[in-house]
Order: sequence, then C-alpha cells, then structure tokens
Amino acid sequence: MCGFVGLIGTDTVAPQLVLGLQSIQHRGQDAAGVATFDGVRWDLTKDLGMVAQVLAADNIRHMQGSVGIGHVRYPTAGTTSTRQDAQPFQTRRPGILLAHNGNLTNVPEVTQSLRMEGMHVLSSCDAEPLLLVFAQELTKIRAAGHTSDDVAQAVAAVFRRVRGAYSVVAVMEVDGETTLVAFRDPHGIRPGCYGRRADGAWMVSSESVALDVLDFKKVDDLRAGDLMLFRAGKEPVQIEVATKKPQPCVFERIYFARPDSVMEDGRVNRQRWRMGRQLAREWAAKGYEADVVVAIPDTSRPAAMAMADELGVPNREGFIKNRYSGRTFIMPDAASRKAALRLKLNPIQEIFEGKRVLLVDDSVVRGSTMARIVDMLRDMKPKEVHLAIFSPPVRHPCFYGIDMPSQEELVAAQMSPDDLETTLANRMGADSLTYLTIEGLQEVMGSDICAACFNGDYAVPISDDERSFINAERRD
Ligand code: SF4
Repeated sequence: MCGFVGLIGTDTVAPQLVLGLQSIQHRGQDAAGVATFDGVRWDLTKDLGMVAQVLAADNIRHMQGSVGIGHVRYPTAGTTSTRQDAQPFQTRRPGILLAHNGNLTNVPEVTQSLRMEGMHVLSSCDAEPLLLVFAQELTKIRAAGHTSDDVAQAVAAVFRRVRGAYSVVAVMEVDGETTLVAFRDPHGIRPGCYGRRADGAWMVSSESVALDVLDFKKVDDLRAGDLMLFRAGKEPVQIEVATKKPQPCVFERIYFARPDSVMEDGRVNRQRWRMGRQLAREWAAKGYEADVVVAIPDTSRPAAMAMADELGVPNREGFIKNRYSGRTFIMPDAASRKAALRLKLNPIQEIFEGKRVLLVDDSVVRGSTMARIVDMLRDMKPKEVHLAIFSPPVRHPCFYGIDMPSQEELVAAQMSPDDLETTLANRMGADSLTYLTIEGLQEVMGSDICAACFNGDYAVPISDDERSFINAERRD
C-alpha cells in the first residue's frame, strides 16, 4: 500500500508536497520521496524512512519548481527495501517523473518484455517497470514533443501490457507545456482524486485529506480508465482511455483510508458508520444483547458508535491506545506477549467488569491479535464478550496492493463457512462472533466494488503463475 500527491501551479511545491504526504503517512511508512521540476532541471529526494525524517526541511530546501510529485511507500511488491525501491522514479528520455499506488500482478512478464528490448530495471519496486513501459510506448510514437493524444495512446498501451491495480501520477512535457499527468487503472481499484485551489493550482492525491490540508477543494475522483492532464491556471483535460466497470477497493473504506477522506461516493467515516448500523441489525437479528459497545481503536470507532446508536446501548472508550509504543520485539513467552499487547492497548477495567460487552473491530485476518485481545479482556471480568466485525470474512488474499498474508494464513479460509462464526468464537474464547454479511456490505456500498478478498471475485483475473510469483514475494 502506498500514497501519492502531485501539485502544479504554485510557488515552490516541495514543502507543500511534504505537508500533503504527512497527511497520508498512514498509507506507507517504509520510504518517502518528492520530485520537482523548475522548467529546466528535475530534482529528486527519496530514501527509506518516514516523511519527517527523509524530507526534513534541510533535505528539500534546495528543491525548486512549481510542479512536483511525492510518495509514501509501504512495500507490497519487492523483496527488499532499499533506497532504490523508494518512489518517485524518473526517466531522462523522455523526461518523466512518476509515482504510483497499487500492485502490478504481471511484473515478471513486463520486465521480461522490457529486457527483450534492452531495458533493465534497477529496483524491485513495480513503479519502475510501469514507468519504463509508459516511456517505451511514448518513444514508439515519437522521441520528443509528445501531445495529449500521444499520452493517451501510451496509457492505452500501459493498460494492455500492465495488469493489476494502479493509480499513477507523473510530471512531463505534453503539448509543449509542463503537465501534471494522472491516470487510474481501468477498474479504478486503487483510489485517487483531484482538487483545485483559489490561486489556480491543481492537486492530485490518493486521499482527499491531503487536499484539505493544503486548502484545495476536491473536484472529483480520478475516474477508472481515464487520463487527466493538469496545467497551471487552466481547466484539466480529461480523456477516457478505457471503459470497464469501476471496482474500487472496499477495504480502503473498511480499514485503510483515513476516516476524514472522501472516496468515490462519500466520507469514509460515514461509510464505516453505515456498515456498523447494518451490522447492528444483523447482530440483533440473532437475538444477542449487550450492556456496552466498545471499539477496538482506531478504525472501528464510527462502526461501534453506529452499532450503539442502532441497538440503544451505551458506547464507551474501553481501550487506551499507546501512540508511542512503536514496533515491539517478538516475545518468546505468553506473559511477555501479553505485556507487549497491553503496552499498545490497555483496557479500562470499569468499562468491562460484569458487563455483556460487544467488541467491534474492522476485520479478522490471521485472528491471532483478536484472540489475544479477548484473552486480555477476560482478566477484566466481563460477563460476556461478543465480537462484531464490520466486514465479511477475509478468505482470499489481495493481489492489488493491500498487504495481506497468503491464503494459508487467513484464518477464515481454513474453516468451513457453515460454522465459521461459532468455530472462530470458540477459538478466540469469545461468547459469539458475528461478521457483516457480504450482502450487508453490498447493501451499504453497492455492488460496483472490489470485494475479492471476501468473495474471491477478482476484477483482474490472476493466473497461476502470477499467483505463485506474488506468494513467493510474500514469503520472502
Ligand atoms: S482484494 Fe480486497 S483489499 Fe484487495 S483491492 Fe480488492 S477489496 Fe481491496
């Protein structure tokens, strides 16, 4: 998972790009970078680390220009994390700066086709082969002086050759003008939006929260399969390159995106709230009752509030999250593992003691953390512990850019669907477990979504070879 920002038409973009990136730091903490263009020279600063370290004021002070892009990286492709894997990437001929969010599923095929033409990749990040294909297709049309039509043709060729999910932002010369370029794969699986500011500047970003921070008003999402060209002070050019059914990732709305972002058809916070309300109805229909609803922070808060509202039960903060605990070492024994969990998430005894507790979480992947939370909660002496998950069971891996384990590690994939909830509740030591049904999710979000990790219906089919390659990378 990653995030990007792009800006054109404003003085000295670098510090603004950094602010934008800080607002989407949750999308990737592994590496960060910004690239700018001052009309003569590219400038690129990137490295492993968080935005505040890599792009500290002293590191970007020299970066000039009124157009640029930035990226935060969470590696879902690439076996190593080195500086070379950080984005943005650049080509000199034609001159392009590029970053993307997503995951290419046919990297070996793409890199092989590039190698046959004498082009070699230098990193294990899939943005690089994507950039090289884009550059190669542009060069096939003409060496320099590319037009909007050339770019649309090259993007169409990228769509034919590059499989998977990707939202892309780039800087290059188009129609003789410095241009901020953006396109989204034909299904629009990964997010992307754009906005304008009163001074005539344009901005694109993975999430609208970055637009808010820099005082841009969101105009729209980047449309699936569309190419957009932004120039300073002008209306953007929008070209429909491919038409396929949009299937944006629903897991962004469940777990990944910031709640204050607006994606496709609504505020993420509101969508989580609606999922919670739907789940409350499904939960109550089973005849369960609770005295208190508690969210496992932070993602689950809106869903827990909605469940409490719908059920007429108080909603309480039952856990205090430690924002400074960072990564803890893998503990050798159960007692130290418990201590590590309490360091991160400490329960407040009075909230739980003697109560029928309804605990709300966004998803269950491996199930081990949830089991440890329930175990820790039993020490608080609740009368009952009921688990409510505001997503359906995760049974299939994601190949489109969300970091998920392989199918063998997904706890729901190892159990029969018929008695999954009972079996899992028993394994976790809970009195019950209820998932939001896939029908319930679609009731809230509609059916034009990617929900492949729940129903196995992949918008871009994955061949056996692609599956093996991605699984091997995950194991590494
Ligand atoms: S498979 Fe799941 S996580 Fe991956 S893009 Fe689709 S909905 Fe999102």
